[in-house]
Amino acid sequence: MDIETRAQEFEQALRRAGVRITRQRAALLRVLAGAGDHPDANQLYQRASEAGAGVSLATVYRTLSALETQGVILKLEFEGEPARFEPADGRHHDHMIDVETGEVMEFVNERIERLQAEIAAEMGYEIVRHRLELYVRRKT
Ligand SMILES: [Zn+2]
Repeated sequence: MDIETRAQEFEQALRRAGVRITRQRAALLRVLAGAGDHPDANQLYQRASEAGAGVSLATVYRTLSALETQGVILKLEFEGEPARFEPADGRHHDHMIDVETGEVMEFVNERIERLQAEIAAEMGYEIVRHRLELYVRRKT
């Protein structure tokens, strides 16, 4: 999905939540729609400021919360990190977090996906959703 389409979706989601789309908020939504690196609220606030959108940090938090409630973004809460956000429209993936740099990487592994389904099935369940996080340190 391209940035513009995603930003439009975010706008619609906010309208559904009864939030008025100001020029500043629209700019924030564009920043969020174009962020592919799991930013936290502070980073989004800074990027929106740089993009000329004079939003307050409180507005950023309120906007993120409304978007999360509407199901169009996901809140990622990694250990020892402020909450990060990503669009919910992406293909399923898991995350690997570098504990030294805080960098968040995405990966998909079909063997892990299958294995998880097998484990659940052996116990009489099917997986509805899952999150897998690997906390890693680069090998020296
Ligand atoms: Zn991700």
